[in-house]
Amino acid sequence: MRTTAELRRLHAPACGGEFVTTAFGEHGARIRVRPYTLPFWEAFEQLCASHGYAIRRDDTGSYNCRAVTAGIGYSLHAYGIAVDVNWSTNPYARRLVTDLPAGLVSDVKAVRTKGGHQVFRWGGDYSTFKDPMHFEVVASPEELASGAAGFGRSSQRELPAGAKARDWFGIGDKGEQVRCWQAQLNQASRAGLAVDGAFGPATLASTRRFQSQARVQVDGKVGPVTRAAMRRALAPRRMVLRRGATGDAVIELECRLNQAMLGSQGFPLNPDGYFGVDTEAGVKLFQAARHIDVDGIAGPQTFAALDAVAT
Ligand SMILES: [Zn+2]
Repeated sequence: MRTTAELRRLHAPACGGEFVTTAFGEHGARIRVRPYTLPFWEAFEQLCASHGYAIRRDDTGSYNCRAVTAGIGYSLHAYGIAVDVNWSTNPYARRLVTDLPAGLVSDVKAVRTKGGHQVFRWGGDYSTFKDPMHFEVVASPEELASGAAGFGRSSQRELPAGAKARDWFGIGDKGEQVRCWQAQLNQASRAGLAVDGAFGPATLASTRRFQSQARVQVDGKVGPVTRAAMRRALAPRRMVLRRGATGDAVIELECRLNQAMLGSQGFPLNPDGYFGVDTEAGVKLFQAARHIDVDGIAGPQTFAALDAVAT
């Protein structure tokens, strides 16, 4: 099996060369990959569908121009040959935690080029830390050019109309972005919300109050304008967060790190509101990726860098 270093060489350059963005699965996820890998990601999608496994939009992704560790090299995500699938249920961890059906994993590993080369390696098979969200292409561009054995479609597809990712969330939505928003509301306006990740009536009322105070459209939907207003509201009241810190500010930091580092190895953090070893490691990874001082302390520079990559 090829080493990561060989794969980097075969699919160079990192963070450059040709990429295509395509729909992935049936729930609005998108991936940005090398064009010659597309037929194989389509095969991957078809296998997920045939095993009844849904690829989620909010925790699936691919491209990320990020060095693994300063000076060592780029993650294969920077080459458009790796995809992270449903990372909240397939976390990077010391032991294997996954909701991928075993049959699906073995079918994916069995995908071959017409020339008989194995196409995918699974991060759940890594010997030290397990990365079950992670699938990477281990065949060369030339091997992939022969096409996928047994899988028909091969040309690039456009996103179907209406599959465009929604850029707001609101009443009835659940998940980490809601949790992060609740923690932000608690900081910005002492909303006293339960930070439970479920956007219910209390979160709606607080959102509307915040929108009114911030003088943005009061529609109860948290879109780019409202999120930007929140970043402005919080900027002057940022505290320096370090090991041992707890509370809403830490929950917000943890989920914002997760959002900023989507799909990077070592993420996501568990947004538990406790700034422990994991949170510190996450801050350091983010700082290294953004080329700011790597001290593991979230201060003004780190928050400014988080704001700079937020949407
Ligand atoms: Zn990955």
